[in-house]
Amino acid sequence: MLESWVVVLASFGYIGLLFAIAYWADRRKSQGRSVIASPVIYSLSLAVYATAWTFYGSVGRAAHDGVGFLPIYIGPTLTIVLWWFVLRKMLRVAKQARITSLADFIASRYGKSALLGGLVTVIAVIGILPYISLQLKAVASSFQIVFQYPELVMPQEGGVMPTLDAGPMPILKVTAFYVAMFMALFTIAFGTRHLDVSERHEGMVAAIAFESIVKLVAFLAVGIYVTFFLFDGFGDLFGQAAARADLAPLLTPLGQPGALANWSWMTILSMLAILFLPRQFQVAVIENVEERHVNTAAWLFPLYMLAINVFVLPIAFGGLLVFSQGGLDPASFVLTLPMSRHMEALTLLVFVGGISAATGMVIVETIALSTMVSNDLIMPLMLRWRGGRLAQRADLPQLLLNIRRGAIVVILLLGYFYFVVAGEAYALVSIGLVSFAAVAQFAPALLGGLYWKGATRNGALAGLSAGFAVWLYTLLLPAFAKSGWFGMEVVMDGPLGIALLKPTQLFGLTGLDQTTHAMIWSMVANIAAYVAVSVTGRQSAAEHSQATLFVDVFTQTGERGGHWRATTSVSALQTLLGRFIGPARAAELFTTYAKVRGLKSADELEADANLVAFAELQLAGTIGAASAHTIVATVAQEEALGIDEVMTIIDEASHVIAYSHKLEQKSQELERATRELRAANERLTELARLKDEFVAAVSHELRTPLTSIRAFSEILHDHPDLDAGERQRFLGLVIKESERLTRLINQVLDLAKLESGLAEWRTVDVDLRELVADAVGATSQIFKAQHVSVEATLPARVSLVRADRDRVMQVLLNLLSNAVKFCEPERGRVEVRLAQSDDATVRVDVADNGCGISREHQQVIFEKFRQVGDTLTQKPAGTGLGLAICRQIVSRLGGRLWVESEPGRGSTFSFTLPVAQAPARVAQAAE
Ligand code: ADP
Repeated sequence: MLESWVVVLASFGYIGLLFAIAYWADRRKSQGRSVIASPVIYSLSLAVYATAWTFYGSVGRAAHDGVGFLPIYIGPTLTIVLWWFVLRKMLRVAKQARITSLADFIASRYGKSALLGGLVTVIAVIGILPYISLQLKAVASSFQIVFQYPELVMPQEGGVMPTLDAGPMPILKVTAFYVAMFMALFTIAFGTRHLDVSERHEGMVAAIAFESIVKLVAFLAVGIYVTFFLFDGFGDLFGQAAARADLAPLLTPLGQPGALANWSWMTILSMLAILFLPRQFQVAVIENVEERHVNTAAWLFPLYMLAINVFVLPIAFGGLLVFSQGGLDPASFVLTLPMSRHMEALTLLVFVGGISAATGMVIVETIALSTMVSNDLIMPLMLRWRGGRLAQRADLPQLLLNIRRGAIVVILLLGYFYFVVAGEAYALVSIGLVSFAAVAQFAPALLGGLYWKGATRNGALAGLSAGFAVWLYTLLLPAFAKSGWFGMEVVMDGPLGIALLKPTQLFGLTGLDQTTHAMIWSMVANIAAYVAVSVTGRQSAAEHSQATLFVDVFTQTGERGGHWRATTSVSALQTLLGRFIGPARAAELFTTYAKVRGLKSADELEADANLVAFAELQLAGTIGAASAHTIVATVAQEEALGIDEVMTIIDEASHVIAYSHKLEQKSQELERATRELRAANERLTELARLKDEFVAAVSHELRTPLTSIRAFSEILHDHPDLDAGERQRFLGLVIKESERLTRLINQVLDLAKLESGLAEWRTVDVDLRELVADAVGATSQIFKAQHVSVEATLPARVSLVRADRDRVMQVLLNLLSNAVKFCEPERGRVEVRLAQSDDATVRVDVADNGCGISREHQQVIFEKFRQVGDTLTQKPAGTGLGLAICRQIVSRLGGRLWVESEPGRGSTFSFTLPVAQAPARVAQAAE
């Protein structure tokens, strides 16, 4: 038999188990083996989203309008897509600035504004009260229902209980009060056990993750029971429902007017809620251990949502079919269905699951809210009234704890009062939506703050106030009116009978449900005020620097302590920090800080801007950014960014730019120099190679005549009795070889001079007709001796050329002597032709009818020491340097030397020379 005492014992036993888990997790944490450092635990803790509202309320809503409960779960699933951008950025910022709560986050973004933090806190507390009252109502109701077991009696009919002097009070409300007070005790025990008041609570997160499992198992259990035991599976259940005229419409929810708009807005609303409900912010951002846990949560959390929603419709329809006589609140179906069949164990499991869902929400939500209240409301007020003297108190950590504990009790009491005052007016789901709409007001300031640097503190204040005012007017006021606290006329006819101002149909907007209507108007007011005031106003320096810190969180690195000027000592800073977080912890932090910077101990630290910023950050983790800033300001001065500093910064920047410009120039010059050096080096290597070849060739060529001279001289020396004729012949050979040697050395020197560019050039205007005639004249003896005819064809007039007379003569002589050399005696004919080839050049041809040169040798002969043909007979006649020298000379003078030849039919060597510049200088033919 499910007696009351069993139920109470089970409840306390369950709570005891939660404590054990929390205690164990805290122990593990202090041993450095955190249990919550797991993506699965992180995902489960996010499931604190599913509260008693999900557990009982979803079925209630589904029984009224079918799948209408779904947007509340579709929204968060859609938000997952945004997590990668938004949540990751929030996490990064929160970790860097040691954010302690949602209010702290927003205050910090807008220049650590205490006013803004306070406003956010007030909105959060008031906005969440309905939600907390909902949990109290659900838990109290579930108690009432199971206490009546095996009867099925709804709590409202549970009778009244006499109280001391306030007159009779419904039992439900009394139960709710006890529930509220017990929950306050749990929360205090969970969230404020340690003197070390830091932003994170490992034990609590572990307990919450466990609760998520319990509520899921309980809900699935009852779902499976209803679907597969009370009915024959989904098909049977939905089939029976579809057959009933009153239930069939629930299966087609989008058929109703305005349904699509309601759905869309409800989805958006819950998308925002999953990000901005204080408890979601607490578990998702503040309690997050590692950023990458988000990756797992991105699929595991939606999966959890799906699992806990699968059986909502079956249970709703099951309840409607089983209790077709009516009279039961659909929100109680989860409990009453197993009760009606006397399933005691299942009933108890469901009951515990409900408690799980409710306590999880209440604990996290109240801890988050109490942190806000203490850090962003009470602390700033105390600092304002008591100023720096507050920091002198020795019992600060205890004071902080007490403030938080007090805040927890007050918040739960307020939740209870909301339940008493307005809790009966709406169903569970509607109460929750009121809170969703309240926290949605944080969206513009928070999201805008993450992505829009221009958003200002005043903009955030204006937006939040406007949105919250509309929320109060369109959602909270009607709730109070409906509960009879003032006349319904205001809601029905509008204030002073002005219909346009009707709270539920503002400016004539009709056809939507109340929450959607409130959402639209509050968001319009919120965003409009936020943007308008931000755009028209200006940011302070502090706001600007915080804005950059938030918006550019992914691109910034390093310490940002620059804006503090310490007016204190290291020990004073440490003592100050110690007052809030305990002296031991402060000493530990300072030592770590020193070690990280390579110092031996904290004694070596200097009280510089970075150390002050570090102390502020640690303090922020305990009392919030705004209060930490105020406290630190008592020992350090904030540096305003004056015009001088701005000028210095700009100056520095321009110096840097100029310097880097110079560097770039230098590097370009260097690059060019390197290129030139490399080219020079290549040229040198090539020259060195040529020189080696040349030296080898020269020594070879010199050796031949030297060897002959030596051989003949030795014969003459060794044989003094040689006859005179022979003697004369040998002496003649020695002389001839010596001449050859001399010529060779002269030519080598000449070529070397030409190639090195050391040769002297006496360029003058030269009449080639004269020169050619001279050359032919000079060689006539050789021609005669060889019996070769020579003939010069000279034009009547030809332009003067710009050249060195002697050098051109050298070329002509060389070509003529080659020609005669390679012609056959008697038959040989050599012709020299002079002609003006065009305006710019004059051309000379030396043609012979000698042996000719084969095609493959026509280029080779211009190289040094190259002789072709029958070397045995002809070699002694030349040096192989003649043509090389000629080509050097001609090209130096700006002309070209080449050969055209056919073997056996003679060769024609031609060269050109440039005409002297002045056209007037034309050599006239001699009359
Ligand atoms: P060399 O002093 O030995 O004549 P050159 O450089 O003047 O050296 O000539 C190189 C070679 O070119 C000669 O050995 C010969 O084989 C070839 N050569 C030059 N002129 C003629 C020509 N008019 N007819 C045929 N072969 C020639």
